[in-house]
Amino acid sequence: MTDSPTIEIIENADLQPFNTMAVPGRAEYFCRVDNQQQLLQALDYANHRRLPVTALGGGSNLLLAADIAGLVVHLNLTGIHASEFAPGHFYVSFAAGENWHQAVEHCLQQGWYGLENLSLIPGNMGAAPIQNIGAYGVELCDLFVSLEAIEISSGELVVMDKQACQFGYRDSIFKQAGKGRYLITQVTLALSSEPQVNIQYPVLAEALRGKDPSPEQVSAAVCRIRREKLPDPQNIPNAGSFFKNPVIEAELLDRLLGSNTSMPHFQQPDNRAKVPAAWLIDQCGFRGLRSGNVGVHQHQALVLVNFGGTGAEILHLAQQIQDAVQERFSIALEIEPQIYGLPE
Ligand SMILES: Cc1cc2nc3c(=O)[nH]c(=O)nc-3n(C[C@H](O)[C@H](O)[C@H](O)COP(=O)(O)OP(=O)(O)OC[C@H]3O[C@@H](n4cnc5c(N)ncnc54)[C@H](O)[C@@H]3O)c2cc1C
Repeated sequence: MTDSPTIEIIENADLQPFNTMAVPGRAEYFCRVDNQQQLLQALDYANHRRLPVTALGGGSNLLLAADIAGLVVHLNLTGIHASEFAPGHFYVSFAAGENWHQAVEHCLQQGWYGLENLSLIPGNMGAAPIQNIGAYGVELCDLFVSLEAIEISSGELVVMDKQACQFGYRDSIFKQAGKGRYLITQVTLALSSEPQVNIQYPVLAEALRGKDPSPEQVSAAVCRIRREKLPDPQNIPNAGSFFKNPVIEAELLDRLLGSNTSMPHFQQPDNRAKVPAAWLIDQCGFRGLRSGNVGVHQHQALVLVNFGGTGAEILHLAQQIQDAVQERFSIALEIEPQIYGLPE
């Protein structure tokens, strides 16, 4: 087993370099796994000691409110394999540690299309199903076929199809009944060599107006828009959108539109409406606000930024925003990143 050396367990490991919010925090135990065998070793270690296990990918969708008890497993499994299941149609399987954006670029180079709207989303493949990542009118579930995961308690391999994953808006079974139960090791998507670009999302349609764009041009436009709109965590630590866009009942929408005629909203198939959380936060005067060592980004009110503060400070600011939006609009904003270190 020379190709799979024993994993190194680090005690009291520093997690600040492993989260894009760059908040301080430590893992009681930490290890990096490069393949399935090492992953099973890590689970063995944790199960023998009755340690809880937490998966870590790129650290771009979590907030450390305090230290993490138990074993944090940093999944670095790599590899991309494709098989053609019908002429021009491919099942492409990505190991959990593949960087999402590099995987998108790789697929474009191979002529496997479908992921272009999801360009430049930070993080790794294994985390993509957790919140069913989405951007510019496309969600992971639109391309998803299946995933492989290891059940933490038993070490058993499980295969889950789209239905089993129960995908929703920034949601899946892994944020609900399956929370903390699995380590996802591989994700399989259905991609096609026949370009079918989707540029219906308003800002994308505007950016590409008058063009009949190729998937590569759609990807480039998405990257351009994202770079203009979103702060790069390398320069200003953040975790992307800190709140989900709330979906409200028709009755509340009517009431709010009475006094806020310009409130943007997007009708949903079930007669409810999605309201941009950024607009609500902006209306409450938080955009650009700095509170001690944390703040709200000046151009994008949905993004909380860290200037050297702690997870607790970020959460305190988030609570102030939630209270203000609740009071003014009667809307409860839900936090998007996974929060670790809170008492159960
Ligand atoms: C600037 C910025 C922009 C963003 N834009 C978008 C966007 O447009 N759309 C969008 O949907 N998201 C966006 N995000 C959020 C984030 O990029 C995604 O949620 C991404 O999928 C997180 O990947 P990660 O590897 O960093 O996950 P991590 O932050 O490491 O983990 C997130 C959660 O998934 C769990 N997890 C991670 N890997 C695994 C695994 N292999 N098995 C089981 N559980 C696992 C973790 O335990 C944790 O609960 C953005 C974030 C940033 C910082």
